[in-house]
Amino acid sequence: RKDGPVSQHAPDLQSRNHVIPNIAPHKPLLVDPLSAAQVSWDRVRIDSLRIAAGLHALGLQPTPTAPLSSDSNTPIISPVVLLHLPNSLAFAPLLFGVLASGLTVTMANPGLTSGELAWILKSAEPQVVVTTPEGLQVLNAAIGETESPKVKANLINKHRIYIVDPSHDEYGLPSAHTKTTGQDHHSQDWKALLASKPLKAPVQFNSGEYQKRTAVILWSSGTSGKSKGVVLSHQALVSNVHSLWHINQAFDGDQRWLGFAPFYHIFALCNVLLLAVASGATIFVMPKFDPKLMLDNVQRFRVTFLHMAPPVAVILAKSPMLDAYDVTSIKGAVSGGAPLPSEIVEQVYRRLGILIKLGYGLSESGSVCNQVGETWEVIQPQLGNTGMPCFGIELKIVSVDEPTKVVAKGLEGEILIRSPTNMTCYLNNKAATDEALDSEGWFHTGDVGKIDNKGHLWITDRLKDVMKVKGFQVSPSELENILCGSSSVADAAVCGLFDAGLATELPRAYVVPSSKHLLAQCTPNGPKTPELHALAQEIKQLMEAKTVRYKWLTGNIVFVSAVPKSPSGKILRRMLVGVQGVEIKLY
Ligand code: AMP
Repeated sequence: RKDGPVSQHAPDLQSRNHVIPNIAPHKPLLVDPLSAAQVSWDRVRIDSLRIAAGLHALGLQPTPTAPLSSDSNTPIISPVVLLHLPNSLAFAPLLFGVLASGLTVTMANPGLTSGELAWILKSAEPQVVVTTPEGLQVLNAAIGETESPKVKANLINKHRIYIVDPSHDEYGLPSAHTKTTGQDHHSQDWKALLASKPLKAPVQFNSGEYQKRTAVILWSSGTSGKSKGVVLSHQALVSNVHSLWHINQAFDGDQRWLGFAPFYHIFALCNVLLLAVASGATIFVMPKFDPKLMLDNVQRFRVTFLHMAPPVAVILAKSPMLDAYDVTSIKGAVSGGAPLPSEIVEQVYRRLGILIKLGYGLSESGSVCNQVGETWEVIQPQLGNTGMPCFGIELKIVSVDEPTKVVAKGLEGEILIRSPTNMTCYLNNKAATDEALDSEGWFHTGDVGKIDNKGHLWITDRLKDVMKVKGFQVSPSELENILCGSSSVADAAVCGLFDAGLATELPRAYVVPSSKHLLAQCTPNGPKTPELHALAQEIKQLMEAKTVRYKWLTGNIVFVSAVPKSPSGKILRRMLVGVQGVEIKLY
C-alpha cells in the first residue's frame, strides 16, 4: 500500500493464482450454524459449474461479443439471473454458477415489497429468478405489477422460477425422502438447475472484454431518487478481490467468519463471499442478523473476524449479553457502510481488545476504497478516519463549488474515486451515469471528506440526498413520493435522524395533513390529539405496505403546518430538524 492516490492497477486476469492461495478442496467454505452441515470449497466449485451448465441448457448464453466500442461506458450485458434470496448455503454456488456461465447476475433484498421488486424486474428484465417459498408470493405479485409481457413470458411461461427451500436440506434441496416444492405451476426446486454434467471450466472471454462484460448488477439510489442498477464488470469484481486481498493478506489459513451481512449488498458480497473464496476462509452463514445468534455462533465456532455495519459495533460495545459469552476468538473486525462514532470503536477495544477498522466504499466503486490498516497503538490518536486508499484506488478531493479544482490537504470537498473496481454505468440511465462518472473516469461519490497529512481519509458529510439506515440506503424523495401519494397528506419531507445509541440514521417524516381541521392542530409542540394519532397510524400502515422494513419511519412522524422550501420549491432538508410540530412516536 502506498500513501495517497496510487496509479491505476489492472490485475492480470490470466494469472489468478497470485490471488487464490492453496486451499484444500475439502476445506469447508460454507457452514450452516444450525445443522453444522458443511459445504466444501470444491463442492461449491463443482456445483457452480453444474449450475452454469444448467443455465446453458435453458438456452441462455452470454451475449456475443460486439465490436468493442471505444466508449468504456457501454457494457455488455448478458441474460440476467436474479437471486432473490437471503444469505444461505445455496447463495454461493448460484452466484458463482451464473458468473461461470458468462451470464449476468443481479441480486435483490428478499424483504422488498412487491412494488419495490417490480421496479427491479422491470429494470433488469431477468430471464431466471431464484427465490424461496416465502419470496415466491412477493415475486408473483411483483411480476403482475410490472405489467411487462417480456418478464412474464420469461419467468412464468417458460417456468424459470427456481426455489431454494430452507425446510429441505441445508442446501435448500429436497432429499429422496422430502417432497419437492410444488408451490405453483411455474416454479420448481433449484435442483433442476444443477445439471448432472458440470461445465469443464468457467466461460472464458477475450482478455480485453473483462472490463465490459457485466458480472453483477447491484441496486443503489446514487445521489437521489429511486434505486438504479449499478453495473459492475468482471474486471471490477476481480480487481476488488485483489485489492481486498492486499489489505487483508495477514489473514492466516484458519479464518472463521460470520455471514450475517447480506450477500446481495456490495459490502458482504466482496468482503465476505468473494474474499472468503480468495483467502480460504470459512463462512458460518446466517440468513439474518440476530444479536444472540451472533454471539452463540461466535462462541461455538470460535469465529475469528467480524464484518459489520455500525449498529452491530454498538452491541459489542454496550450489550450486557456479551458478558455471558466467550468472544476471545475474535481477532479483528471491519465496519463499513455508514459512519461509526469513534467512542464506539474505543469502547469495543477497551471492553474486548478488538480493533474495529473503518472502511469506506460504495456499490458504485465496487466496494472498499479505503480501509484502516494500522494497529490500535497507531490509530488510537486519530480514531474516526477510514484509512488510506486500497491497492489500485485513486482518490482525490475536489471543491464542492468547482469540481475541477482539487483542494489542499486537510480541506473538505467532494470525494472522487477512479479505480478498475468502479461501475461501468447505471443500467439504462445515461443521465445519471454522465452525472456520476466524468470523462476522465472519476466517480463523483456525493460524499464529503478530507485527506489529512498522513494520507488518511475522513468522511465528514454527504452532499447526496440519501440516508443510511443500518448500512442500507434510503432515499428521502422515494419516501416523500409515497407519503404525498396519500390523499390525507398535503405535503411531506423526510430526513435521517441520527440515533447515537443505535449508531444509525432513522427515517423521520415531517407531514402536512390535507384536512384543514387537522392542519389547525399542527402547532409547535401542540397536543397529540387522537385524530393526529389516527393519521399517524394510517401513514405507518401505508409505509409498511409499500416499503421494505428498514425504510419504515422509525424516526417518527412530526405533523407540521408547512415544510421548509427554497423559493424554487426545493425541500430544505437540513432545516427540517429545527422545525417544530406535533411528534407522534410510531415504533
Ligand atoms: P452503499 O452503496 O450502500 O454501500 O452506500 C455507500 C455510501 O455509504 C457512501 O456513499 C457513504 O455515504 C456511506 N458510507 C460508506 N462507508 C462509510 C463510512 N465509513 N463512513 C461514512 N459513510 C460511509
